[in-house]
Amino acid sequence: MSGTVLEGEQRSMDPEHPQEECGVFAIASVQNVSIDIFYALRVLQHRGQESAGIAVYNNGIKAIKGMGLAHQALKPDDVNNLKGEIGIGHVRYSTFGSSTIENAQPIVVSTNYGDIALGHNGEIVNADKIMEDLKKKGWAFITSTDSEIAVRLLANDIANTGDPVRSLKNLMSILQGSYSMTIMIDNRVFAMRDPLGVRPLCVGRTKGGYAAASESVVFDTLGGEFIRDVDPGEIVELLPGEIRSTKTGLSKGRAHCMFEWVYLARADSSIEGHLVYEVRRRIGQRLANEQPADVDVVVPIPDSGRSHAIGYSEESGIRYSEGLMKNRYVERTFIMPEQSERTTSVMLKLNPLKSVIKDKRVVLVDDSIVRGTTIRQIVQLVRNAGAKEVHVRIGSPPIRAPCYFGIDMKTREQFAATGRTIEEIGKMITADSIGYISVEGLIESIGLPAGDLCLGCLTEEYPLPVPGEKVRYQKKLDMFV
Ligand code: SF4
Repeated sequence: MSGTVLEGEQRSMDPEHPQEECGVFAIASVQNVSIDIFYALRVLQHRGQESAGIAVYNNGIKAIKGMGLAHQALKPDDVNNLKGEIGIGHVRYSTFGSSTIENAQPIVVSTNYGDIALGHNGEIVNADKIMEDLKKKGWAFITSTDSEIAVRLLANDIANTGDPVRSLKNLMSILQGSYSMTIMIDNRVFAMRDPLGVRPLCVGRTKGGYAAASESVVFDTLGGEFIRDVDPGEIVELLPGEIRSTKTGLSKGRAHCMFEWVYLARADSSIEGHLVYEVRRRIGQRLANEQPADVDVVVPIPDSGRSHAIGYSEESGIRYSEGLMKNRYVERTFIMPEQSERTTSVMLKLNPLKSVIKDKRVVLVDDSIVRGTTIRQIVQLVRNAGAKEVHVRIGSPPIRAPCYFGIDMKTREQFAATGRTIEEIGKMITADSIGYISVEGLIESIGLPAGDLCLGCLTEEYPLPVPGEKVRYQKKLDMFV
């Protein structure tokens, strides 16, 4: 286990981007699975860096967990010694509950039916209410996570039904919000996706069996093959020789998080039939049409703006050049107090290439702006490197509202766009001009119908009831009345 990660330190890691939530994985195989799970977690590392854990079945569920990146959290010997032919894995970024080892997943509980282990990506909107009700009934909770609520409800229900699939279905009818979950119930392994399919989840073949993962790129790395996305409201059971599907009938619509394509998922993953890299390129192309810039060079903000910038360059015909070099080893920003006057966090992470930038009119392309503090420093860095003009183009519309479904954007106050016009945002970040893609442009670039996407943080209309916020689709409410 690595040293404790301080929540504040981790949260300030990249204030310019929405922070990822979690990554989940499950597998059933004819061979030992712990090493496959470990590699899957390394592939899903971008979805959570606070903790990692693996649970396998071997005459009961055995689990190892730790704080930090998967290779820091899980010692090679511990992974090797964990023997079992079914298992689940999890990497965590906390959006609900603090960053401590107690909250690391998979969560494991013992029941009369057998052990249960659960890993969760997403956020349960009605978790507080459920927890309050259960505490009144005398229940006690060990962690501060919404995932514990899910596993405890499941354990309680299975004591009555004795039927894992029925109990998972019952659980799905209680939970509201976003959840892609992998679950082991005694010696069986399942994955399930919430009725709106907010967070991604897919299934594929591995060398020794079948698996479920947050992103399709996992199957490439394991030498396997992506099969399909799990449907909203679907429960799948993984066996070495087949995938068994149960459709719960609880899904009455879809609300896939648009940010998965914009920033969160890896560019080489495919979600709902749309390769993330191609979506980002199309966003860049559309951005070039909607927000042209009369400049000499297109420069991506590495690494998040690269695919968008390639599209912008292709469509505009303006040369693409890597004008900012990234120090890959500055994961978190820590500035010595006496240095803070002269060294910014951005200077530690990025260095401008003067030969690309000096005396040029530059357009910087990135995926999104949350607070605006980092992009402001980058604009100044590029200007100090001799750029004649610095323009900014952004591959998502302004973020104006919190996310309640698993992304760490919780208050309106933090957003650059709160209380500011686009022009005022441009002034705040000291750019010569700023332009965002439109909501329509984004939807068309993703390639799914608007009604199949969650756009809550952009439009302030959410696909589920959230206290104090507007609901976009009445029909999606029907499943909860
Ligand atoms: S509110 Fe925004 S970040 Fe959250 S799920 Fe919806 S689109 Fe994604």
